[in-house]
Parts: sequence; structure tokens; C-alpha cells
Amino acid sequence: MASQNISIAIHGGAGTILRSTMTPELQLQYEAGLQTALDTGYKILEAGGSSLDAVEAAVVSLEDCILFNAGRGAVFNHIGGHEMDASIMWGKTLEAGGVCGVNHIKNPVKLARTVMQYSGHVLLCGTGAEEFARQHNLDFENDAYFYSEQRYRQWQDALKEDRVLLDHTEKKFGTVGAVALDREGNLAAGTSTGGMTNKKFGRVGDSPIPGAGTYANNNTCAISCTGVGELFIRSVVAYDISCLIDYKGLSLKEACNLVVYDKLVKIGGEGGLIALDKSGNIEMPFNSEGMYRGCRSNSGRNEVLIYPK
Ligand code: ASP
Repeated sequence: MASQNISIAIHGGAGTILRSTMTPELQLQYEAGLQTALDTGYKILEAGGSSLDAVEAAVVSLEDCILFNAGRGAVFNHIGGHEMDASIMWGKTLEAGGVCGVNHIKNPVKLARTVMQYSGHVLLCGTGAEEFARQHNLDFENDAYFYSEQRYRQWQDALKEDRVLLDHTEKKFGTVGAVALDREGNLAAGTSTGGMTNKKFGRVGDSPIPGAGTYANNNTCAISCTGVGELFIRSVVAYDISCLIDYKGLSLKEACNLVVYDKLVKIGGEGGLIALDKSGNIEMPFNSEGMYRGCRSNSGRNEVLIYPK
């Protein structure tokens, strides 16, 4: 049955984002990056395309933007490499695909979708996932593509202090994600990240794990998370919100508020998420100082935000 509502929401990570450390030029660049991703996904929905295509296209747009910690802008790990995680999920069938710890892949979210559609598995990691990408002719990039002075300095500072940093900690910028609802009433979600600066080699966060950092179910909601992955995995955040709607009958807003402002806060889980339900309601809660985010719908919403409203 065709639904009248189409909606998309995106995020570019949550963390310590302070007005005092943001320049007007930089803010404009972030807002432009978010708006481009939002419009890219929304146009697909408007033309009658699927939420899966819209989510993939929006995340690709953010992965290609060096400002965000995913794809091109992925942060450095402990040994100076990039290990990227991504996933995508289709709410109509509960199919999901994810990749962990991949290097040199231009658009990890495309690889996640390829895993979902063609591997017969849900999660592929490391060199096996890269070999699978080669077999499916996905684009690879060399180390120079993923290098940025700012990320390098961020890693050097973290190394000196022996700390593992959320990308937005100390003004940095993070993980990306999108959720969408198409005209057919299908929900989809996708998330992509370079993880946390100076993370130990082999570390996997919540982003590629269905139910933790990403989840979509046509009966409930679509969710993409950003924050300290370990806490989001332990709280099974995305699935918890779906369960609260499914089993407890909470609204999207009630479920999101309970998880982000209560359950996560109690265990020190800094971060946020974007959420969409089958009626097209949008929530973008976060318990950190800021979260790069935006949403657009045919009910008239079109906004890009960084700080609390
Ligand atoms: N959730 C991501 C991770 O832990 C980090 C982020 O959201 O910035 O890998």
C-alpha cells in the first residue's frame, strides 16, 4: 500500500561540539555537507525510490565529505591506519548487512549493502570483506585519499595522552548515518564510521552491528546511532527502542527519550541517534553537547542543526 509520508533524517556524529570553538566558516561547511546529503536522499524518495536507496545515497554523500568520520574522513586507529565499520538494514524484510574493520574501501556503506544482498551472511570483517568488495568491483582508494592533517594531529594527540577519543571529543566530528521512510511505507537505516581515534587495532564499535548502532523494522522504527560504541553495544540501543515501541506500546518520542536521556546516561553512554517511525515521525535526541543532524519530510520539515534547539 502506498504511503503518503516520505521522510529522511541524517546525522554526522555527536560529541563535544561547542559554539565557542566553532568558526562561522566551518559551521557553514558542516551545514552544507549535511544539507547536500539530506537533499540527495530526499530526491530519491520524492521520485518514488526506495528508502534503502535513499539511505545509501545520503550516507555515501557524507562518506565522501572529508569533514565527517566515515569513508574519506575516517579517523586514525592506534597504529595509524583506518579501520572502518558500516551497516545497512531494510525494514521490510529485516535483511541486514555490515562490514567491520575494512581499509581502503571508498564507500563502506555500499559494501554493507552488497554483503546484505549477495553474501548470504550479515557481517563480514577485515581482509575477507575487502576480498568480497574486489569480487563485486567496489571502489578502493589509497592511503592519501583518507589522509587529513586534522585527523593526523588528532591521532598524535590521542597517542601522547594514551586516550581513545570519540571523534567529536575536543571539537572533532563523527560517524554518519541516515534513516528513511519511502512512499511504500518501507523503513531503512544505515550507519558508517571510522570508529574512535586511537582505537585498538581490531576494535569494532556499534555502527556495523544490527540492533546496536543500526536497526530498521517496518512495524516499529528505523534507527542510526552515534556515540561511544561500547556503551551502545551493551545497551543494544537501536533494538531497545524498537522493543519499547513493539512490546510496551511507547511512542517513538517516549522510547527515544527513555533510552537516550535515562538508560544511556545511567551507564555513561554519551551520544545520540536519529529515529523515524512508520508514520513518518522524526526524533533526533542526544545527550552530548551537540549532534550534527538534519531531517526533511513532505510534511514541510527541512532543517539542519548542530546544537540543542
Ligand atoms: N559509535 C561510533 C563507534 O563507537 C563512534 C561515533 O559515533 O562517533 O565506533
